This record gives sequence, C-alpha cells and structure tokens, in this order.
Amino acid sequence: MATIFTKIVNGEIPCYKVAEDDKFLAFLDISPNAKGHTLCIPKQEVNKIFDLDEETYMGLMAFSRKIAIALEKAVPCKRVGVAVVGLEVPHVHVHLIPLNEMGDMNF
Ligand code: C5P
Repeated sequence: MATIFTKIVNGEIPCYKVAEDDKFLAFLDISPNAKGHTLCIPKQEVNKIFDLDEETYMGLMAFSRKIAIALEKAVPCKRVGVAVVGLEVPHVHVHLIPLNEMGDMNF
C-alpha cells in the first residue's frame, strides 16, 4: 500500500508545497514543531534513508540544503535544525525545523 507521502506526491492528498523538482518534494509539516517546519522527501517511495541509492541520497541532501538555506532567510530563526526520524511515516523524509535563539522551537 502506498505511503501517505506517496499519496501527497501523486496529488491524492493535499499539502502546502514549498518546492519540488522531478525527484524531490518539500512541503510544510501538517503538525509543525515550529513555524516553517518543512519535510523534504524523495518522490520515490523508500522506507529508510540509508536504503536510498547513492544518487538519490546525495540528491536528497543537496535538495534539503537548498530548502534549509531558503528557510533560514524566509523564517526568522537562529538556525534550521535537521532531523531524520521516521517513527510515523515509512517514507524517507528530512525534517527542517527553524529554531530560535534558545534552541527552542520557533513559535
Ligand atoms: O516520526 P516521523 O519522522 O515519521 O514524522 C512524520 C511527520 O510527518 C510528522 O511530523 C507529521 O506531522 C508529518 N505528516 C505530514 N502530513 C501528513 C502526515 C504526516 O506532514 N499527511
């Protein structure tokens, strides 16, 4: 069965799209830990990040870096935190979370 993120990629479930190219998609987390909390995913459905092929892995990192740099400019924050968790959705995703001066979430 397709993951919820594959359904987002296919347009079956809506999302607030931040950016996309042919292989990757960035969208706002539906239940954000901070203003601007963004998820970057490969459109290809793979469960765990280290199971990605090398090219997709490197591409996801490059894509996530571009989004993080843009987020740091767009959202007032000290830095953008990066996390790979994967407890809930078995489809690779990189969390980009704007953090404030105290290292707290940016609400
Ligand atoms: O723990 P894990 O890294 O798998 O968390 C999945 C994330 O995906 C959560 O932050 C959740 O809010 C987000 N999500 C989403 N849109 C959905 C379903 C989950 O942004 N439709």
